[in-house]
Amino acid sequence: MNIYRHYRPDPELEAFIVALPKTETHLHIEGCVSFEQLNAFNPKRYPNPPPFWDPSYRFESFDRFNEHFFEWVAPYHTTVANYHETAKQAFAKCAAQGVRHIEASFHLPAISWLDDDGPALLDAIHDAAPDGISVRIFGGMTHADYGRRSELLERALTWDRLAGIDLHGPEYWPVDDGIPDYWRRAKDLGKVTKAHAGEFMGAPFVEWVVDTLGVARVEHGVRAIESAQVVDILAERSIVLDVCPISNLKLAVEGVSTMSAHPIRKLMEAGVCVTVSTDDTFMFGNSLIEEYTALVQSLGFDRTALIEIARNGVRTASMDEAKRAALERELDELQRLTLDAP
Ligand SMILES: [Zn+2]
Repeated sequence: MNIYRHYRPDPELEAFIVALPKTETHLHIEGCVSFEQLNAFNPKRYPNPPPFWDPSYRFESFDRFNEHFFEWVAPYHTTVANYHETAKQAFAKCAAQGVRHIEASFHLPAISWLDDDGPALLDAIHDAAPDGISVRIFGGMTHADYGRRSELLERALTWDRLAGIDLHGPEYWPVDDGIPDYWRRAKDLGKVTKAHAGEFMGAPFVEWVVDTLGVARVEHGVRAIESAQVVDILAERSIVLDVCPISNLKLAVEGVSTMSAHPIRKLMEAGVCVTVSTDDTFMFGNSLIEEYTALVQSLGFDRTALIEIARNGVRTASMDEAKRAALERELDELQRLTLDAP
């Protein structure tokens, strides 16, 4: 398994990154299917890996990304068994890279074309988790889905194993009027609420999801950097940004023409809590080790800064407190060894 297409760490850095107890809190299950699965599923349709794995490839727009998504990964995800297989392989890759906690989402409206209902899907995804990795599953939906699927989405709030909800898809679509109230009720019922923002829309939309949807976690959020006022709001309210640098680069997010231009360091210096994840490993051909390596090779992060990223993940993820404390102790020990190193 070659997981190094974009950034390759030297062996010492690779060992350090693997040893870091990491979280992966921005992961779309469908987008993490493996090429081997698709090739076995339909060898005529998927004879070769996708052209967008090329490190120099850039999606010309989010619409183009979506077209590829529907061409490649959507047709496979019509059965609970196939979701289980995708999750099993993706979670195993996470485990091999030293990930200890995963928050992954699936497209909630997919339930309506699946061969079983939500609770069965949630059981199948949870059953895919390897030993030692805690998994929380989120239901994602686009800005338009509440109006089209309100009965399903309301029912989803009664599913015990659904940890929370996430707003995804084209960020520039108008947000359905039912979404803000749905987000508030989900939170009242104990669900964790997230939203994608600040990827294809600017800082005002990041402020909107924080203020109007009440999310404490924004997926991407990087274009908050366009407004010092919004950056201050994120820092003051301890809002977490689940950032995916290689995804931002390959989707040509405004301000990320090169990896060295990525605003992650500026956001951290302004006091924003940032974590690092992969988004869709099939669509970007990336791995979490590469994401951490990109920070070192293109943005000058040292080991203490990598530990800070991992610690932000551990401190803010939806994991039980005993596990959180144990992982924090591991990070303390790695920090001590890093400071003692010559
Ligand atoms: Zn995403």
